[in-house]
Amino acid sequence: MRKAVLTQPFRQFTMRTIQDLIKPKVRKLAPYTLTPHRTRIKLNQNENPFDMPESVKTEVLHRLAEREWSRYPDFIPVQLQETLARFAGWRADGVLVGNGSNELIQNLLMVMVAEGTPVVLSEPTFTVYRLMVETLGGEVVNIPPRADLSYDLAAIGEAACRTNAAAVILCSPNNPTGVTVSEADVRRLLAEFDGLVVVDEAYYEFCGQNFVRLLAEFPRLVVLRTFSKAMAMAGLRVGYLLGAPELVIEVNKAKLPYNLNFFSMAAATVAVEQYETALKPLVELLIAERHRLETAFQELPGFRLVPSAANFMLVEALRHTPKEVFESLLAESILIRDVSRYPLLERYFRFNVGTPAENDAFLAGLRLLSER
Ligand SMILES: *Cc1c(COP(=O)(O)O)cnc(C)c1O
Repeated sequence: MRKAVLTQPFRQFTMRTIQDLIKPKVRKLAPYTLTPHRTRIKLNQNENPFDMPESVKTEVLHRLAEREWSRYPDFIPVQLQETLARFAGWRADGVLVGNGSNELIQNLLMVMVAEGTPVVLSEPTFTVYRLMVETLGGEVVNIPPRADLSYDLAAIGEAACRTNAAAVILCSPNNPTGVTVSEADVRRLLAEFDGLVVVDEAYYEFCGQNFVRLLAEFPRLVVLRTFSKAMAMAGLRVGYLLGAPELVIEVNKAKLPYNLNFFSMAAATVAVEQYETALKPLVELLIAERHRLETAFQELPGFRLVPSAANFMLVEALRHTPKEVFESLLAESILIRDVSRYPLLERYFRFNVGTPAENDAFLAGLRLLSER
């Protein structure tokens, strides 16, 4: 046996903990978590309460059976990109497909955000944005909404220009407030601010408005979409980004190869093919149910509903704490989201529109509480 010979001494005289090795900004972050509860009625994640229609599932399973599972998926999912381009009304080389839109949010920020890069948000909004910006070392410039929770676009534009931000990120409809941004406001922002304007359209199917039309005119506009909400595919993780081909080339560099498995690819393709017949009627039913809930809330003392353009709504609890509302509904096996930890929302909870029967049970649960 050869004797080990120490040629160069090496030894550190510090004693760092794991915490010392983590970026201070990351240490300070609260993780994005959700306590799992199994309930009869689940209205806490803005999912489609109707499962994916059988006709889609059958066709997807058929395509899977025909495919060789031993082979990698396509390096570039050209077919899905073309399907999505036609569906959205944009060019195929301006489409990037991700493992959920969260992955694309991460990829987009990875290629833009370095230490100290400012990014403008308007909180309360989707928490993944702050988490990613700060993990990458960037600075969140937060412009709170107006008292009615609508976006303060003048202040957002002013802050974006003043800080020379890399991007302004707006969700329309916004999660968790349900508010949208107007086309005039987005146009003005794109005309006067020279960074990226990212519009997260995770719920556009429910609001009758989208910004794809502006992509040809404004190459600094980015639109993000997901199959997790209206498209009834949260379990399969598919999202897509629409933007200038020049930008897509750069964002693509941060993406891991084969990020999307062919099961999810096939499911997204078939969901788009059958959207009009299988999914759109469900979306329309959910919008009708949202209107019914709005009316029902007018007769429900103790709760103030915030009008929403999405498939979820924010409610201000006037006589109880959001935690009490959460616990009381949980006792009825109904799960909602207590959003009282979000900025400005100490008195609010959020629920998503369920099936008609689920919405009836939810309203009954709240009525019970308001009589107490
Ligand atoms: C739910 C949601 C998403 C979806 O993320 P996926 O990773 O596609 O499931 C994206 N943005 C917002 C604002 C959302 O609420």
